[in-house]
Amino acid sequence: MENILSSAHVHTTFCDGKTKAGDMARKAYEMGFVSLGFTSHAPQTFDPAHCIDPSREDDYKNEIRHLRQEYKGRMAIYLGTERDMLSCSDIKDYDYFIASVHYFSRPDGSHVGVDGMSDVLLRYVNECCCGDGLKMAEQYFSLLRDYVVGSKPAIIGHFDLVRYNNSILHLYDEEAPGYRSMAIEALRSMLESNAMLEVNTGGIARGYMTTPYPAAFLLKEWKAWGGEIIINSDCHDARFLDAGYIQAEEMLLSLGYDHVVRLSHDPEKGMWERIGLK
Ligand SMILES: [Zn+2]
Ligand SMILES: [Zn+2]
Repeated sequence: MENILSSAHVHTTFCDGKTKAGDMARKAYEMGFVSLGFTSHAPQTFDPAHCIDPSREDDYKNEIRHLRQEYKGRMAIYLGTERDMLSCSDIKDYDYFIASVHYFSRPDGSHVGVDGMSDVLLRYVNECCCGDGLKMAEQYFSLLRDYVVGSKPAIIGHFDLVRYNNSILHLYDEEAPGYRSMAIEALRSMLESNAMLEVNTGGIARGYMTTPYPAAFLLKEWKAWGGEIIINSDCHDARFLDAGYIQAEEMLLSLGYDHVVRLSHDPEKGMWERIGLK
């Protein structure tokens, strides 16, 4: 995988990752990465275990800026953040952000994880979606579409994350025309944001997905529309910094992609660069 050698989506102990930022940078450099983008989950008012503590956000920014200096000229390091539509911090100090949807909101104001505990999600579907899994998927895509179109992120995070719990609960048929047209329509509406579509291999590293997000039928459409893609590992543990990259590249080649985008190896030439697939 000499071609990619980058991830614009990694988490550390500043949020829910297992690896400290310095150790993540060192491992990436040892692996030959030319660039690395840190994207801790932005602060939010609930589920503190999965996001930066607001009191540590400045520490996070300072630590990544320090690493940027330490690796200057050897590996380009960028300060990013993965924002959920329910995040509550400012984006102004960040080089870029990833827009993701991780939660549904219940009428009482509490939240349910899209990729959280499957029994909790099942209860949400029964209580708030009339037991209809397809309705839940429709809600998810609608939330993500509104967030991406409204916020104009650099990257669309794990587009069909809703597949995660479907692989356990089988709430709807991912091959069915109704589901597919719903997902395609949501993706199509995000094209105007000019955001890159992330090919996210994180689920492969964590052993619960056999293919990246998003599914191949969506990547096929995105290519036909001329959209740009970026391969990211959504890494929470430095051992898996490039997990699933070979598989992702093979999948993209089979779909006719000839390049991807990555974080630039030289920030002075711009933040993003195109890399040809072999
Ligand atoms: Zn995420
Ligand atoms: Zn992430």
